[in-house]
Formats: sequence, structure tokens, C-alpha cells
Amino acid sequence: MGLATDGGLLLPETIPDVRNRLAEWRSLAYPALAHEVFSLFIDDIPSRDLMQLVNSAYSSFRHDEVAPVVPLGRTNILELFHGPTLAFKDIALQFLGPVFEYILSERNEKLTVLGATSGDTGSAAIQGLRGRQNIEIFIMHPHQRVSPLQELQMTSVLDENVHNLAIRGTFDDGQSIMKSLFRDLDFKRDYQLGAINSVNWARVLAQVVYYFYGCYRVLEREGGESVTVSVPTGNFGDIFAGYIARRMGAPISSLIVATNENDILSRFFTTGTYSRGTVAPTLSPSMDIQVASNFERYLFYHCGSDATKVCALMDEFANSASLSVPFGPDGVDSGFQAAAINTEQTLATIAACYQNHGYVLDPHTAVGVAAAQQLAGSGPSLCLATAHPAKFPDAIARANPDAPATHPILDQLKGAKTRCRVIDAKEATVRETIIQTLAG
Ligand SMILES: *Cc1c(COP(=O)(O)O)cnc(C)c1O
Repeated sequence: MGLATDGGLLLPETIPDVRNRLAEWRSLAYPALAHEVFSLFIDDIPSRDLMQLVNSAYSSFRHDEVAPVVPLGRTNILELFHGPTLAFKDIALQFLGPVFEYILSERNEKLTVLGATSGDTGSAAIQGLRGRQNIEIFIMHPHQRVSPLQELQMTSVLDENVHNLAIRGTFDDGQSIMKSLFRDLDFKRDYQLGAINSVNWARVLAQVVYYFYGCYRVLEREGGESVTVSVPTGNFGDIFAGYIARRMGAPISSLIVATNENDILSRFFTTGTYSRGTVAPTLSPSMDIQVASNFERYLFYHCGSDATKVCALMDEFANSASLSVPFGPDGVDSGFQAAAINTEQTLATIAACYQNHGYVLDPHTAVGVAAAQQLAGSGPSLCLATAHPAKFPDAIARANPDAPATHPILDQLKGAKTRCRVIDAKEATVRETIIQTLAG
């Protein structure tokens, strides 16, 4: 279930306290740790089945550790990009695929997933759901407005249940067509429409695991009690998982909200006011977001778990494009720090890291590393690496023309056979395409 029936977002009734398990979890491999964390939230899948789902999810990763920590001097990098599409979204979507398939088969149901993408999410969703029983997936991307690599990552997947729709319009057109098809309750019911965007709680849950895993590795290496974690942030989904991990008792001292010039979230944590700006394109396109869908979940806890207060604040935001919370001596929340990093700082961070360590940061990760350099202080710290640099060769070349930015997975795509339908960005056309495709 994506949205709740009242249009809000879903949260678990309680967040488990795992402080007495921390020592025992420390030695677990990634899949075993994931199984422990998921078991605390999932009580309707038998433990053995859940372990199988977890194993099948993470066997597609190209690194034994799934999410290894790489030390670069005082900076530790948590590499979250070893999945099939080379971005951290695989960690959740590789798990969601087998889980959806399992639940649909239990219930003898079918699902038609419909999504709109500006790039990364679409390919991670397609890779998570390709070839899965009882699932058809339709992904709209703006025709000729995603990078050629991103387009190939989607359209070169030839499984019969994968349907790429290039719409003659923008990402926003795709998003609004999607919303209006979801509002048509008859269509939604008749075609078992489902979503897998970042408001899906299972995606947040899957991301909680690597905060534990990464902090353990840093503390093993550096000693100490807790870790400052810097997170390149767009929709607040990734860092919200870190917030949940911290509430559960993960050894996180503070979370750094690292944004690019689209800084609505860093402004919120440094002023107490959340106000919409206009979206500016940057080198880190997956963070070019002004309204962060998972922010509402954080507000719930910030308001002392008072849903009425959250509704009032969200109404305030809907009416005036701005909302404010009290700003105390500790700022908005002593558990968060925030910084906005501009293009020049991003390029300088990529260049310096390559010169000093021979390591190439992707532009999203560089935003997080730059923010950590400003804010993390002298204790142990960890920066989340959300994508492989080969996905963003132009930014890497601008920062440092000598730095390599290739990956065999992407090299193999060149010249690959593709399948994609180019259609008008009209609700009726998309609806008709779905109906005809499902009719076979
Ligand atoms: C999606 C994405 C982000 C932003 O994550 P949120 O959960 O939206 O905050 C950062 N980096 C990359 C590479 C991404 O694909």
C-alpha cells in the first residue's frame, strides 16, 4: 500500500528498541542483519521464507558485503551502489520485487505497477520487478529528457512484463498522469494498480539495515561509541531510514542532511521553516527536489506523534507553500545538522578526493562528503555513497578529466537491443496503452 486512504503516509505503530541486541548484531553478515531488522516489523511472512526473500534480494549485488565501507583517510564511504543499476535505490527495490511476488502468489492476486521517473528510480524499479510472476510494470519517462545512459538502463530490459513508455512531455507530466490514473478508483481496482515510489514504507525499512551495518564497520575500525552519518538527500527517504535506525538504538550521534542548491530541507533544519522554492537543475539530478515526500513522516515524530498537528502543518504547507516549527537553542532537532552544497563545492570535492585518494565520488556522494567536511567534527563519521560515478560521466569529467568514470555494466549497454513505446503525454493515451497491453 502506497498512500494511506486519507492521503497521508503510513508508519509502524511502534518503533522497536534494539539497544540490547546491538552487540549480538555486530558480527552478522548483511543478509542476516537485514533478516533481523525486517523480522521486527514483518510478522506475516514466516521467518524461513523471509530469509529466502532477503537472500534472493541481495544475491544480485556484485560485492560480497552488499554495502562495504571504504576508508579514505578520516572519511569513511558506505558504498550503496553495488546493485544492478549502480544506485542505492537497488537496496530497497531488489527486496521489494521478491516480496511483492511472494505476497501476490499467497493471495492469488495480480499487480500492475505504474510509475513516472526522471531517471534513477525507473531503472531500479524495472530491475527489481523484471520477470516477476503476476506483475506488469509500466514506467513513464520524459522522451529524450533523461540521460542516454539512464534511458538505456530502462529500455534495454526486454522481459515481457516490462513496459517502457517514453512520453512526449516532462517528468511532471508523467507524475500528473500517474496521479490522475490513481485517482480513478474504478480503473485502479479493475487493473490492480500499484505504486513503488519512495512513499512505500517497505522501501524505507529496507534502507534501515545499512545504517546499522555501516556504523558497525566504522566503530570496528575507529573505536568510539557512535557515528555521525552524512546523507545526500532529495526526497528524505534515505535519511529518514537513518532517523528510524537511530530511534531503534543504532549508534548514530547525528545525521547530516546534505542537499544541493535545492535546499528546502537544509533550510528547514537550520531555520525551522520549510518553504517551497523553484527546482534548479544541478550536477546531482536525483536530489533536484523541492517538496520531499518523506518529510511528513519525520514531522509526525517531531510533533510528538500527534497526527492532528501533522495534518495542521501539512494543510498550512498546502495553503501557503510554507510551514514553520519552533526553533529552540538546539535548533529544530539536536539529532540533525544540515548543509547545502553548490556546484563549485561539489566539483572541488570530487577533484580533491581523486587527487588525495585516487577515489572517484559520484556528484550526489560528493555533496554528502562536502557537508561532512563542514559539519562532522572529529569523531567517527560515515558518508553514504548513493551512486557509482560511472552513471554521471559528464560531472566527473568536469571535475577532473583524468578520473575514470566507467563501469562494465554500463559499457555493455552500448548498442544493446531496446524496447520502448513513444506516446503522447496524455492521460487517455497512457490509459489506453495500459489497457491494450494487458489485453495482450
Ligand atoms: C534517489 C537518490 C538520492 C536521494 O535520496 P532520497 O531518498 O530521495 O533522499 C540521492 N542520490 C542518488 C544517486 C539517488 O538516486
